[in-house]
Amino acid sequence: MKSPTSRYPADLDHWRAAGRVAGEARELGLSLARPGMLRRELAERVEGYIRDHGAAPAFPANLSRNSEAAHYTPSADDPEPLQAGDLLKVDVGAHIEGAIADTAATVEVGGTHRYDNLVRAAREGLEAGIRAVRPGGPIDAVSRAVEAAVHARGLKPIRDLTGHSIERYLLHAGKSIPNVAGFTDRRLEEGEVVAIEPFATNGVGSIANGPFGHIVRFRSDPGAADPALAALFHRFRTLPFTARWVTDPAEAAALGRARRLLQTYPVFVEAGRGWVAQAEHTVLVGASGAEVLTATR
Ligand code: MN
Ligand code: MN
Repeated sequence: MKSPTSRYPADLDHWRAAGRVAGEARELGLSLARPGMLRRELAERVEGYIRDHGAAPAFPANLSRNSEAAHYTPSADDPEPLQAGDLLKVDVGAHIEGAIADTAATVEVGGTHRYDNLVRAAREGLEAGIRAVRPGGPIDAVSRAVEAAVHARGLKPIRDLTGHSIERYLLHAGKSIPNVAGFTDRRLEEGEVVAIEPFATNGVGSIANGPFGHIVRFRSDPGAADPALAALFHRFRTLPFTARWVTDPAEAAALGRARRLLQTYPVFVEAGRGWVAQAEHTVLVGASGAEVLTATR
């Protein structure tokens, strides 16, 4: 029986389906990450997979590499190919009518194995965090488990990047899931959807803002006065998107006029220029623990 405070979404099928598609898109991205592959082409392949499987991208594919921790998506004319030895984070989101799944994994491009320890630290941090999920349980238990697993590899979690609760059309809802213990006394609620996402680094364990990237988001509804802008808001709501997706000339022009209505995300880089690995799953807080929504098996 559901507890009185349970928060299960009414359309759980949508959340599960979005999770499955996001997980498959993540695996596709990892498999395509070869030397010479353009980051732009990789993003388009992953986002196209999501669109072809009954969902929409919940945000532009984040293809951050090396000391870039998050929020790098290529522009429409991004010329950079992947290189052997790049440490690439494939962080993808899918949504179905606002039911969002967010998932990531890290691959070392080109079959070298210099950073296996970093990749494993992030993955083991994620697995430990998922095991610590309990309905009604403290978020800090998850944070503590993540931190211990990353430390066990002799590495640092990035303390100012966190997991997060997810609500309809809201990728980062009210709760944070820190990757370091001692930052929160809040609890998980049965039926809640949360993303757990450890970042492991051989740097100092925090991030700095890099240059502004190509990911933007409406701060609020721009209203109907500008029809092209209204069409864009109808399409993306408050979810992150990128100019690469705006191919209609009238809408592209509206986007140019709307700068003040948009939040632009900076690329996050490791503050000590350490290299960064990330692993992320979206999970449903079930009656007996986490149900991983973005698993592929
Ligand atoms: Mn996330
Ligand atoms: Mn993510």
